[in-house]
Amino acid sequence: MKSLIRRAVFTGFLTLICCAASAQQITPVIAVDRGPNTAEQQQKHYVVMVSLDGFRYDYPKKYGAKHILAIGAKGASAPDGMIPSYPSLTFPNHYTLVTGLYPEHHGIVANSFYDPDRKQTYSMRDSKAVTDGSWYGGVPLWSLAEKQGMRSACFFWPGSEAEIAGERPSYYLHFDNKVDDNKRIDQVMAWLKLPADQRPHFITLYYSDVDHAGHEHGPNSPQVAEAVKHVDELVGRLEKELDGLHLPIDLIVVADHGMERVQGDWITLDKYVSLNDFPTVGSLLYPPNEADAERIYKKLRAADAGFLVYRRAQVPAELHYNSNPREGDPVIIAKGPTMIRANPPPADRPDYLPVGEHGYNPYEMTSMRAIFFAEGPDIRPRSTVKPFENINVFPLVVRILGLESPKVDGSLNVLSGILDASLSDEAQR
Ligand code: AMP
Ligand code: ZN
Ligand code: ZN
Repeated sequence: MKSLIRRAVFTGFLTLICCAASAQQITPVIAVDRGPNTAEQQQKHYVVMVSLDGFRYDYPKKYGAKHILAIGAKGASAPDGMIPSYPSLTFPNHYTLVTGLYPEHHGIVANSFYDPDRKQTYSMRDSKAVTDGSWYGGVPLWSLAEKQGMRSACFFWPGSEAEIAGERPSYYLHFDNKVDDNKRIDQVMAWLKLPADQRPHFITLYYSDVDHAGHEHGPNSPQVAEAVKHVDELVGRLEKELDGLHLPIDLIVVADHGMERVQGDWITLDKYVSLNDFPTVGSLLYPPNEADAERIYKKLRAADAGFLVYRRAQVPAELHYNSNPREGDPVIIAKGPTMIRANPPPADRPDYLPVGEHGYNPYEMTSMRAIFFAEGPDIRPRSTVKPFENINVFPLVVRILGLESPKVDGSLNVLSGILDASLSDEAQR
Protein backbone atom coordinates (compact mmCIF):
# COMPACT_ATOMS: atom_id res chain seq x y z
CA MET A 1 0.00 0.00 0.00
CA LYS A 2 1.48 3.29 -1.08
CA SER A 3 -0.19 5.66 1.33
CA LEU A 4 0.89 5.81 4.88
CA ILE A 5 -2.12 4.92 6.98
CA ARG A 6 -2.30 5.89 10.57
CA ARG A 7 -5.07 3.91 12.19
CA ALA A 8 -5.80 6.88 14.36
CA VAL A 9 -7.14 6.57 17.81
CA PHE A 10 -9.37 9.30 16.57
CA THR A 11 -11.60 8.95 19.54
CA GLY A 12 -9.25 11.14 21.43
CA PHE A 13 -7.57 12.86 18.52
CA LEU A 14 -10.45 14.77 17.01
CA THR A 15 -12.09 15.34 20.35
CA LEU A 16 -8.89 16.92 21.50
CA ILE A 17 -8.46 19.13 18.47
CA CYS A 18 -12.02 20.15 17.97
CA CYS A 19 -13.78 19.74 21.27
CA ALA A 20 -16.75 18.73 19.12
CA ALA A 21 -17.17 15.10 19.94
CA SER A 22 -18.09 13.57 23.23
CA ALA A 23 -15.50 11.67 25.28
CA GLN A 24 -17.23 8.32 24.68
CA GLN A 25 -17.09 8.67 20.90
CA ILE A 26 -15.61 5.53 19.40
CA THR A 27 -15.83 6.42 15.72
CA PRO A 28 -12.86 4.63 14.19
CA VAL A 29 -11.82 7.26 11.70
CA ILE A 30 -8.80 6.26 9.65
CA ALA A 31 -6.44 9.11 8.87
CA VAL A 32 -4.09 8.96 5.89
CA ASP A 33 -1.19 11.34 6.29
CA ARG A 34 -1.16 13.37 3.06
CA GLY A 35 0.28 16.54 4.47
CA PRO A 36 -1.55 19.87 4.58
CA ASN A 37 -3.87 21.36 1.97
CA THR A 38 -1.65 23.27 -0.44
CA ALA A 39 -1.76 27.05 -0.07
CA GLU A 40 -3.82 27.23 -3.29
CA GLN A 41 -6.34 24.62 -2.14
CA GLN A 42 -6.80 26.32 1.23
CA GLN A 43 -8.40 29.22 -0.64
CA LYS A 44 -11.02 26.96 -2.25
CA HIS A 45 -14.66 26.49 -1.28
CA TYR A 46 -16.02 23.36 0.42
CA VAL A 47 -18.51 20.72 -0.73
CA VAL A 48 -20.43 18.49 1.66
CA MET A 49 -22.23 15.81 -0.36
CA VAL A 50 -24.89 13.86 1.52
CA SER A 51 -26.45 10.70 0.13
CA LEU A 52 -29.83 9.58 1.44
CA ASP A 53 -30.01 6.05 0.03
CA GLY A 54 -33.27 5.23 -1.75
CA PHE A 55 -34.75 8.73 -1.29
CA ARG A 56 -37.15 8.79 -4.23
CA TYR A 57 -37.53 12.09 -6.10
CA ASP A 58 -41.14 12.61 -5.02
CA TYR A 59 -40.67 11.82 -1.31
CA PRO A 60 -39.85 15.41 -0.23
CA LYS A 61 -43.31 16.72 -1.18
CA LYS A 62 -45.15 13.43 -0.59
CA TYR A 63 -43.86 13.21 2.97
CA GLY A 64 -43.24 16.89 3.72
CA ALA A 65 -39.44 16.87 4.12
CA LYS A 66 -39.35 20.53 5.10
CA HIS A 67 -35.59 20.94 5.60
CA ILE A 68 -34.75 19.30 2.29
CA LEU A 69 -37.42 21.33 0.48
CA ALA A 70 -36.01 24.48 2.10
CA ILE A 71 -32.60 23.74 0.58
CA GLY A 72 -34.31 23.67 -2.82
CA ALA A 73 -36.19 26.89 -2.09
CA LYS A 74 -32.96 28.67 -1.16
CA GLY A 75 -30.75 26.97 -3.74
CA ALA A 76 -31.26 24.44 -6.52
CA SER A 77 -33.48 21.42 -6.99
CA ALA A 78 -34.59 18.90 -9.59
CA PRO A 79 -38.36 18.77 -8.86
CA ASP A 80 -38.87 15.84 -11.25
CA GLY A 81 -35.77 14.06 -10.06
CA MET A 82 -32.31 12.98 -11.05
CA ILE A 83 -32.03 9.95 -13.34
CA PRO A 84 -29.89 7.15 -11.94
CA SER A 85 -27.62 5.11 -14.17
CA TYR A 86 -28.66 1.57 -15.02
CA PRO A 87 -28.88 -0.58 -12.97
CA SER A 88 -30.50 1.70 -10.36
CA LEU A 89 -28.63 0.04 -7.49
CA THR A 90 -26.61 1.45 -4.60
CA PHE A 91 -22.98 0.71 -5.47
CA PRO A 92 -23.09 1.46 -9.21
CA ASN A 93 -24.84 4.79 -8.65
CA HIS A 94 -22.88 6.06 -5.66
CA TYR A 95 -19.72 5.36 -7.59
CA THR A 96 -21.14 7.07 -10.71
CA LEU A 97 -21.95 10.17 -8.64
CA VAL A 98 -18.30 10.52 -7.61
CA THR A 99 -16.67 9.54 -10.94
CA GLY A 100 -18.98 10.99 -13.61
CA LEU A 101 -18.82 7.63 -15.39
CA TYR A 102 -21.53 5.16 -16.35
CA PRO A 103 -21.26 1.91 -14.37
CA GLU A 104 -19.88 0.00 -17.34
CA HIS A 105 -17.07 2.55 -17.60
CA HIS A 106 -16.15 2.62 -13.90
CA GLY A 107 -16.60 -1.13 -13.54
CA ILE A 108 -19.01 -1.41 -10.59
CA VAL A 109 -21.82 -2.70 -12.80
CA ALA A 110 -23.96 -4.06 -9.92
CA ASN A 111 -23.83 -4.46 -6.14
CA SER A 112 -22.47 -7.95 -6.82
CA PHE A 113 -21.08 -9.27 -10.11
CA TYR A 114 -18.56 -11.69 -11.60
CA ASP A 115 -15.50 -10.73 -13.61
CA PRO A 116 -14.91 -13.40 -16.29
CA ASP A 117 -11.30 -12.26 -16.87
CA ARG A 118 -10.33 -12.28 -13.19
CA LYS A 119 -12.56 -15.28 -12.53
CA GLN A 120 -13.54 -13.58 -9.28
CA THR A 121 -16.73 -12.18 -7.78
CA TYR A 122 -17.16 -8.66 -6.38
CA SER A 123 -19.79 -8.15 -3.73
CA MET A 124 -20.64 -5.09 -1.64
CA ARG A 125 -20.98 -7.50 1.28
CA ASP A 126 -17.41 -8.79 0.92
CA SER A 127 -15.06 -6.43 2.72
CA LYS A 128 -12.04 -7.91 0.92
CA ALA A 129 -13.52 -6.95 -2.48
CA VAL A 130 -14.91 -3.59 -1.34
CA THR A 131 -11.49 -2.51 -0.02
CA ASP A 132 -9.57 -3.76 -3.09
CA GLY A 133 -8.96 -0.78 -5.39
CA SER A 134 -8.28 -2.99 -8.41
CA TRP A 135 -12.06 -3.45 -8.87
CA TYR A 136 -12.69 0.28 -9.32
CA GLY A 137 -12.10 2.39 -12.45
CA GLY A 138 -12.19 6.16 -12.89
CA VAL A 139 -10.99 8.77 -10.42
CA PRO A 140 -13.44 9.38 -7.55
CA LEU A 141 -13.76 12.97 -6.34
CA TRP A 142 -11.76 12.31 -3.16
CA SER A 143 -8.85 10.85 -5.16
CA LEU A 144 -9.02 13.72 -7.64
CA ALA A 145 -8.85 16.23 -4.78
CA GLU A 146 -6.02 14.43 -2.99
CA LYS A 147 -3.95 14.23 -6.19
CA GLN A 148 -4.20 17.99 -6.49
CA GLY A 149 -3.21 18.72 -2.90
CA MET A 150 -6.72 19.13 -1.51
CA ARG A 151 -7.76 17.15 1.57
CA SER A 152 -10.96 15.08 1.49
CA ALA A 153 -13.02 12.99 3.93
CA CYS A 154 -15.66 10.27 3.59
CA PHE A 155 -18.16 9.34 6.25
CA PHE A 156 -19.10 6.28 4.22
CA TRP A 157 -19.44 6.07 0.44
CA PRO A 158 -19.08 3.05 -1.82
CA GLY A 159 -15.45 2.96 -2.94
CA SER A 160 -14.13 5.16 -0.14
CA GLU A 161 -12.47 2.25 1.68
CA ALA A 162 -10.19 1.33 -1.23
CA GLU A 163 -7.07 2.91 -2.65
CA ILE A 164 -8.21 4.11 -6.09
CA ALA A 165 -6.09 5.92 -8.68
CA GLY A 166 -3.26 5.76 -6.14
CA GLU A 167 -5.14 7.77 -3.51
CA ARG A 168 -7.43 7.50 -0.49
CA PRO A 169 -9.46 10.13 1.32
CA SER A 170 -7.37 11.81 4.04
CA TYR A 171 -10.04 10.69 6.52
CA TYR A 172 -12.44 7.75 6.11
CA LEU A 173 -14.14 4.90 7.96
CA HIS A 174 -14.94 1.29 7.32
CA PHE A 175 -18.66 0.94 6.67
CA ASP A 176 -20.70 0.19 9.77
CA ASN A 177 -24.34 1.11 9.56
CA LYS A 178 -24.67 0.92 13.33
CA VAL A 179 -22.75 4.17 13.76
CA ASP A 180 -25.20 6.61 15.32
CA ASP A 181 -26.77 9.03 12.82
CA ASN A 182 -26.02 12.17 14.83
CA LYS A 183 -22.44 11.06 15.55
CA ARG A 184 -21.89 11.09 11.79
CA ILE A 185 -22.76 14.79 11.75
CA ASP A 186 -20.59 15.38 14.83
CA GLN A 187 -17.68 13.96 12.86
CA VAL A 188 -18.35 16.04 9.74
CA MET A 189 -18.46 19.13 11.94
CA ALA A 190 -15.24 18.06 13.66
CA TRP A 191 -13.54 17.73 10.28
CA LEU A 192 -14.70 21.21 9.29
CA LYS A 193 -13.34 22.63 12.54
CA LEU A 194 -9.85 21.30 11.92
CA PRO A 195 -7.15 23.92 11.27
CA ALA A 196 -7.35 25.17 7.66
CA ASP A 197 -4.33 23.20 6.51
CA GLN A 198 -5.88 19.85 7.61
CA ARG A 199 -9.54 20.68 6.95
CA PRO A 200 -11.11 18.59 4.16
CA HIS A 201 -12.72 20.54 1.29
CA PHE A 202 -14.69 17.60 -0.08
CA ILE A 203 -16.72 15.57 2.42
CA THR A 204 -19.23 12.75 1.92
CA LEU A 205 -21.91 11.63 4.37
CA TYR A 206 -24.31 8.70 4.01
CA TYR A 207 -27.61 7.47 5.51
CA SER A 208 -29.50 4.31 4.52
CA ASP A 209 -32.65 4.59 6.69
CA VAL A 210 -35.02 5.48 3.84
CA ASP A 211 -33.77 2.65 1.62
CA HIS A 212 -34.19 0.11 4.41
CA ALA A 213 -37.74 1.23 5.18
CA GLY A 214 -38.58 1.19 1.46
CA HIS A 215 -37.40 -2.41 1.04
CA GLU A 216 -39.12 -3.65 4.16
CA HIS A 217 -42.42 -1.79 3.93
CA GLY A 218 -42.70 -0.33 0.42
CA PRO A 219 -42.56 3.31 -0.79
CA ASN A 220 -46.09 4.18 0.40
CA SER A 221 -45.67 2.97 3.98
CA PRO A 222 -45.82 4.96 7.22
CA GLN A 223 -42.36 3.54 7.95
CA VAL A 224 -40.93 5.33 4.88
CA ALA A 225 -42.73 8.52 5.96
CA GLU A 226 -41.05 8.14 9.37
CA ALA A 227 -37.60 7.46 7.87
CA VAL A 228 -37.97 10.49 5.56
CA LYS A 229 -38.82 12.65 8.56
CA HIS A 230 -35.84 11.29 10.48
CA VAL A 231 -33.22 11.92 7.79
CA ASP A 232 -34.84 15.29 7.00
CA GLU A 233 -34.24 16.31 10.63
CA LEU A 234 -30.62 15.20 10.28
CA VAL A 235 -30.22 17.29 7.13
CA GLY A 236 -31.82 20.23 8.95
CA ARG A 237 -29.35 19.90 11.82
CA LEU A 238 -26.41 19.58 9.43
CA GLU A 239 -27.46 22.62 7.41
CA LYS A 240 -27.87 24.75 10.53
CA GLU A 241 -24.49 23.77 11.91
CA LEU A 242 -22.74 24.27 8.56
CA ASP A 243 -24.25 27.76 8.46
CA GLY A 244 -22.79 28.50 11.87
CA LEU A 245 -19.25 27.80 10.63
CA HIS A 246 -19.29 30.81 8.28
CA LEU A 247 -17.22 28.93 5.73
CA PRO A 248 -17.98 28.92 1.97
CA ILE A 249 -19.64 25.49 1.97
CA ASP A 250 -21.93 24.13 -0.74
CA LEU A 251 -24.28 21.44 0.58
CA ILE A 252 -25.44 18.87 -1.97
CA VAL A 253 -28.12 16.36 -0.98
CA VAL A 254 -28.66 13.46 -3.37
CA ALA A 255 -29.89 9.90 -3.53
CA ASP A 256 -28.66 6.97 -5.54
CA HIS A 257 -32.08 5.77 -6.81
CA GLY A 258 -35.77 5.58 -5.91
CA MET A 259 -38.03 2.69 -4.89
CA GLU A 260 -41.02 0.76 -6.27
CA ARG A 261 -43.46 -1.71 -4.74
CA VAL A 262 -42.61 -5.26 -5.85
CA GLN A 263 -45.21 -7.15 -7.88
CA GLY A 264 -45.61 -10.92 -7.83
CA ASP A 265 -43.25 -13.58 -6.58
CA TRP A 266 -39.63 -14.32 -7.51
CA ILE A 267 -38.93 -15.13 -11.14
CA THR A 268 -36.25 -17.81 -11.16
CA LEU A 269 -34.62 -18.13 -14.59
CA ASP A 270 -33.51 -21.74 -14.20
CA LYS A 271 -37.16 -22.67 -14.61
CA TYR A 272 -36.65 -21.95 -18.33
CA VAL A 273 -33.10 -23.19 -18.92
CA SER A 274 -30.46 -24.88 -16.79
CA LEU A 275 -28.04 -22.30 -15.38
CA ASN A 276 -26.02 -24.57 -13.12
CA ASP A 277 -22.85 -25.09 -15.11
CA PHE A 278 -21.36 -21.60 -15.02
CA PRO A 279 -21.19 -18.53 -12.75
CA THR A 280 -24.35 -16.53 -12.06
CA VAL A 281 -24.75 -13.62 -9.63
CA GLY A 282 -28.30 -12.50 -8.93
CA SER A 283 -29.80 -12.28 -12.43
CA LEU A 284 -26.39 -11.81 -14.12
CA LEU A 285 -25.34 -14.73 -16.35
CA TYR A 286 -21.80 -15.64 -17.37
CA PRO A 287 -21.92 -18.61 -19.79
CA PRO A 288 -18.38 -19.64 -20.77
CA ASN A 289 -18.68 -19.45 -24.57
CA GLU A 290 -20.65 -17.99 -27.48
CA ALA A 291 -22.61 -21.16 -28.19
CA ASP A 292 -23.92 -21.36 -24.61
CA ALA A 293 -24.68 -17.63 -24.54
CA GLU A 294 -26.76 -17.90 -27.74
CA ARG A 295 -28.56 -21.05 -26.57
CA ILE A 296 -29.50 -19.50 -23.22
CA TYR A 297 -30.56 -16.29 -24.92
CA LYS A 298 -32.95 -18.18 -27.23
CA LYS A 299 -34.45 -20.26 -24.42
CA LEU A 300 -35.03 -17.26 -22.18
CA ARG A 301 -36.49 -15.23 -25.02
CA ALA A 302 -38.93 -18.00 -25.77
CA ALA A 303 -40.01 -17.98 -22.11
CA ASP A 304 -41.75 -14.64 -22.69
CA ALA A 305 -42.01 -14.05 -18.92
CA GLY A 306 -41.77 -10.73 -16.99
CA PHE A 307 -38.36 -9.85 -18.37
CA LEU A 308 -36.55 -8.77 -21.53
CA VAL A 309 -33.50 -10.69 -22.77
CA TYR A 310 -30.73 -9.20 -24.89
CA ARG A 311 -27.38 -10.35 -26.14
CA ARG A 312 -25.19 -7.85 -24.36
CA ALA A 313 -24.22 -5.88 -27.47
CA GLN A 314 -27.94 -5.36 -28.24
CA VAL A 315 -28.95 -3.79 -24.90
CA PRO A 316 -30.67 -0.44 -25.66
CA ALA A 317 -28.02 2.29 -25.95
CA GLU A 318 -29.68 4.63 -23.42
CA LEU A 319 -28.90 2.13 -20.65
CA HIS A 320 -25.13 2.22 -21.35
CA TYR A 321 -24.99 -1.43 -20.40
CA ASN A 322 -23.61 -3.22 -23.44
CA SER A 323 -19.84 -3.28 -23.35
CA ASN A 324 -18.44 -4.65 -20.08
CA PRO A 325 -17.95 -8.43 -19.65
CA ARG A 326 -18.88 -7.96 -15.96
CA GLU A 327 -22.47 -7.37 -17.18
CA GLY A 328 -22.69 -10.96 -18.42
CA ASP A 329 -24.27 -12.10 -21.69
CA PRO A 330 -27.18 -12.46 -22.27
CA VAL A 331 -28.47 -9.54 -20.19
CA ILE A 332 -31.85 -9.80 -18.41
CA ILE A 333 -33.84 -6.61 -17.84
CA ALA A 334 -37.02 -6.62 -15.76
CA LYS A 335 -40.14 -5.39 -17.56
CA GLY A 336 -41.80 -4.27 -14.35
CA PRO A 337 -41.03 -4.19 -10.63
CA THR A 338 -40.36 -7.91 -10.29
CA MET A 339 -37.65 -9.82 -8.46
CA ILE A 340 -35.49 -11.89 -10.83
CA ARG A 341 -32.71 -14.35 -10.06
CA ALA A 342 -30.86 -17.00 -12.03
CA ASN A 343 -30.98 -19.81 -9.49
CA PRO A 344 -33.00 -20.48 -6.33
CA PRO A 345 -31.23 -19.73 -3.02
CA PRO A 346 -29.55 -22.60 -1.12
CA ALA A 347 -32.08 -24.73 0.77
CA ASP A 348 -30.84 -23.47 4.15
CA ARG A 349 -31.42 -19.79 3.29
CA PRO A 350 -34.92 -18.35 3.88
CA ASP A 351 -36.57 -17.10 0.70
CA TYR A 352 -37.06 -13.38 1.36
CA LEU A 353 -39.26 -11.31 -0.94
CA PRO A 354 -38.89 -7.56 -0.27
CA VAL A 355 -41.94 -5.28 -0.34
CA GLY A 356 -40.02 -2.56 -2.19
CA GLU A 357 -37.14 -2.76 -4.68
CA HIS A 358 -35.08 -0.77 -7.18
CA GLY A 359 -32.52 -1.60 -9.84
CA TYR A 360 -35.01 -1.22 -12.69
CA ASN A 361 -34.77 0.70 -15.98
CA PRO A 362 -35.06 4.38 -14.95
CA TYR A 363 -36.39 5.32 -18.41
CA GLU A 364 -39.33 2.93 -18.01
CA MET A 365 -39.99 3.65 -14.30
CA THR A 366 -39.90 7.23 -13.03
CA SER A 367 -40.07 5.74 -9.51
CA MET A 368 -36.37 4.94 -9.91
CA ARG A 369 -35.51 8.66 -9.93
CA ALA A 370 -33.57 10.12 -7.02
CA ILE A 371 -33.54 13.50 -5.25
CA PHE A 372 -31.09 16.28 -6.06
CA PHE A 373 -30.85 19.43 -3.92
CA ALA A 374 -28.01 21.94 -3.50
CA GLU A 375 -27.38 25.24 -1.78
CA GLY A 376 -24.42 27.43 -0.92
CA PRO A 377 -22.29 30.28 -2.21
CA ASP A 378 -21.77 28.66 -5.63
CA ILE A 379 -25.39 27.66 -6.22
CA ARG A 380 -27.79 29.97 -8.02
CA PRO A 381 -30.67 30.81 -5.66
CA ARG A 382 -34.10 29.38 -6.49
CA SER A 383 -32.88 27.52 -9.58
CA THR A 384 -34.44 24.33 -10.88
CA VAL A 385 -33.28 21.75 -13.35
CA LYS A 386 -35.17 19.23 -15.49
CA PRO A 387 -34.49 15.51 -14.92
CA PHE A 388 -30.82 14.87 -15.69
CA GLU A 389 -28.48 11.89 -15.57
CA ASN A 390 -26.42 11.49 -12.41
CA ILE A 391 -23.15 11.33 -14.41
CA ASN A 392 -23.38 15.14 -14.43
CA VAL A 393 -22.92 15.66 -10.68
CA PHE A 394 -19.16 15.01 -10.85
CA PRO A 395 -18.40 17.90 -13.24
CA LEU A 396 -20.48 20.23 -11.03
CA VAL A 397 -18.45 19.38 -7.92
CA VAL A 398 -15.16 19.52 -9.84
CA ARG A 399 -16.09 23.03 -11.00
CA ILE A 400 -17.02 24.24 -7.51
CA LEU A 401 -13.75 22.91 -6.11
CA GLY A 402 -11.74 24.33 -9.00
CA LEU A 403 -10.05 21.01 -9.76
CA GLU A 404 -8.50 19.79 -13.00
CA SER A 405 -10.80 17.10 -14.41
CA PRO A 406 -10.22 13.95 -16.39
CA LYS A 407 -12.56 13.31 -19.32
CA VAL A 408 -15.75 11.67 -18.03
CA ASP A 409 -19.20 10.71 -19.37
CA GLY A 410 -20.91 13.66 -17.65
CA SER A 411 -20.73 17.27 -18.79
CA LEU A 412 -20.77 20.57 -16.92
CA ASN A 413 -23.22 22.03 -19.45
CA VAL A 414 -26.06 20.01 -17.95
CA LEU A 415 -25.92 21.65 -14.51
CA SER A 416 -24.13 24.93 -15.29
CA GLY A 417 -27.51 26.71 -14.99
CA ILE A 418 -27.64 26.06 -11.24
CA LEU A 419 -24.17 27.48 -10.67
CA ASP A 420 -23.74 31.01 -9.42
CA ALA A 421 -23.17 33.46 -12.30
CA SER A 422 -19.42 33.77 -11.69
CA LEU A 423 -18.89 30.03 -12.12
CA SER A 424 -21.48 29.29 -14.79
CA ASP A 425 -20.27 32.11 -17.07
CA GLU A 426 -16.84 30.55 -17.01
CA ALA A 427 -18.40 27.17 -17.74
CA GLN A 428 -19.98 28.52 -20.92
CA ARG A 429 -16.67 29.85 -22.21
P1 AMP B 1 -29.23 -2.06 -2.11
O1 AMP B 1 -30.48 -1.50 -1.57
O2 AMP B 1 -29.26 -3.54 -2.15
O3 AMP B 1 -28.80 -1.47 -3.41
O4 AMP B 1 -28.08 -1.71 -1.05
C1 AMP B 1 -28.24 -0.77 -0.03
C2 AMP B 1 -27.43 -1.17 1.14
O5 AMP B 1 -26.04 -1.08 0.90
C3 AMP B 1 -27.62 -0.22 2.30
O6 AMP B 1 -28.74 -0.56 3.02
C4 AMP B 1 -26.37 -0.38 3.11
O7 AMP B 1 -26.57 -1.27 4.18
C5 AMP B 1 -25.38 -0.97 2.13
N1 AMP B 1 -24.25 -0.06 1.95
C6 AMP B 1 -24.31 1.25 1.68
N2 AMP B 1 -23.09 1.81 1.62
C7 AMP B 1 -22.22 0.82 1.86
C8 AMP B 1 -20.80 0.75 1.93
N3 AMP B 1 -20.05 1.83 1.75
N4 AMP B 1 -20.25 -0.45 2.20
C9 AMP B 1 -21.01 -1.55 2.37
N5 AMP B 1 -22.35 -1.55 2.31
C10 AMP B 1 -22.96 -0.39 2.07
ZN1 ZN C 1 -29.30 2.44 -2.60
ZN1 ZN D 1 -31.94 -0.59 -1.64
